[in-house]
Amino acid sequence: MKGLTSVSEVVAGMHCAVRLYLDRDLPAAESPRYTVAKQISYHLGETLDSDRIWDEITTVLPLIEPAMRVFHDSCIGACQVREWPVPVETDVMVESGVLGIRGMVDKIFDQAPYFAITRSSDAPANGAYMSDRVRIACFAACVHETLDLPIESGYIEYIPSGALRTCVPQPRDRRAMVRGIRAAQRIHAGEIPKRPLMAPCESCPHEDGCASRKGKRLSDLM
Ligand code: SF4
Repeated sequence: MKGLTSVSEVVAGMHCAVRLYLDRDLPAAESPRYTVAKQISYHLGETLDSDRIWDEITTVLPLIEPAMRVFHDSCIGACQVREWPVPVETDVMVESGVLGIRGMVDKIFDQAPYFAITRSSDAPANGAYMSDRVRIACFAACVHETLDLPIESGYIEYIPSGALRTCVPQPRDRRAMVRGIRAAQRIHAGEIPKRPLMAPCESCPHEDGCASRKGKRLSDLM
């Protein structure tokens, strides 16, 4: 597995390689919001017992703010209004030797679309966010190669909205995936990345401390 790029690196590198470079030394911290969504996701397809799931969440993340219970209850309410497919396995490590990527896919099913990823964000009005489409493109390749399944699409669970979206990766999604893979591989090889022209600085946690954002040298734009 050594030497493979993670799916999360691919997505970060797709948006801004500088961000991926700055992120690489940070400890991997899971957001409380994701902890809540992930634990609820394990129970989709069965009767959702709010108190029991919250007990599990406080076991997984003992220091979670009690106020997150409001978000939890809201997610439970949203997820109760539809039926959910039941996976045959959860949290399966998959990889693509062809692309040089790997990741933990949230759910595997015994029928198409065969896999799902879990998100803690609200669902967009239609379809899926670009970053999630690229995640699906990555996992489609990894699940196909690792489990030898005929993958054409994948599910995205948007837990806060109680939404299950089917995503069929398109060429533009795979182009973005390849761009992200190359950006990550160049950083692994020791290259210091440049700021992309359309970097999403406004939504970046490095916005205040990023020299690339402040610099904006002409040489970076050529
Ligand atoms: S502030 Fe902008 S240039 Fe810097 S890492 Fe974030 S997105 Fe990239």
